[in-house]
Amino acid sequence: MKQINAVNDLLSFIQLIKQQNKTIGIVPTMGSLHSGHDSLIKRCKKENNITIVSVYVNPNQFNNKNDFLNYPRTLDADINRLKTLNCDILFSPSDKEISKILNPNFKLKLGNLNKYLEADNRPGHFEGVINIVAKLFEITSPNKAYFGEKDLQQLLIIKQLCLQKFKNIQVISCATVRNAGGLAKSSRNKHLTEKELIIARSIYKVLNEVKKNKLDWSVKKAKDYVRKYLNNLSINLDYFEIIEIEKFSFTQEINTNCNYYAMIAVTIRETRLIDNLKL
Ligand code: AMP
Repeated sequence: MKQINAVNDLLSFIQLIKQQNKTIGIVPTMGSLHSGHDSLIKRCKKENNITIVSVYVNPNQFNNKNDFLNYPRTLDADINRLKTLNCDILFSPSDKEISKILNPNFKLKLGNLNKYLEADNRPGHFEGVINIVAKLFEITSPNKAYFGEKDLQQLLIIKQLCLQKFKNIQVISCATVRNAGGLAKSSRNKHLTEKELIIARSIYKVLNEVKKNKLDWSVKKAKDYVRKYLNNLSINLDYFEIIEIEKFSFTQEINTNCNYYAMIAVTIRETRLIDNLKL
């Protein structure tokens, strides 16, 4: 595996790869890699000649300073993990290197995607995500880019980014990887104690309960159930909503003609977790 930190070195390498007519896949991450990231990287390896994994904790996408300062950083372990996965290139730039790439100069039409849920709860978050992903796309010109369904709203926004600005890049969505108890793998799980990790399983449990009862419960009943269940476990509910995926709009009732997702964000002590489930 080649580790590249400088933008110019990466550009030279990409030029070489393109001259050889090789396909490029990219997996953007913030590091502290786990088996959720592995699944994206393995798929990228299968579908492309060259796999680039970026590890960059992007300050601009944190709306909470402590969250940024406490975000787990485990570059040495990440390097070992990526070597085991036979990753071709690790791009791990400094802030200074990232600042050398011109800021993208466009505005996406995102409608509800930039209004609700994470957009509403984390002001500026998606602007930061779009900025860094666009910069990475700009300098790597990948054929395919891999994103996880765990961050569903982000995935849908990146799909719009490609539809509107990077038409040659195919976005590949990858299923959420969970631990044996159902908790979605997340770098932030490292902040949880053993006891909190067990309590956190109830996030997936309530999503499944809502799915099981989707045709019998009203949306209000589902919301009341989730709020009460998590409240009893001292899990702070940031939001629970059922959205219709095409319009990314809230729904008050579920009918069988549309695709719905249950979307949830919670805080356990100081750790914020998100998850979702297709109903
Ligand atoms: P992050 O390092 O958290 O920014 O995540 C990098 C990429 O990995 C994003 O596209 C995430 O959606 C994806 N990802 C993170 N956790 C999981 C998971 N448990 N299952 C699948 N993909 C994930």
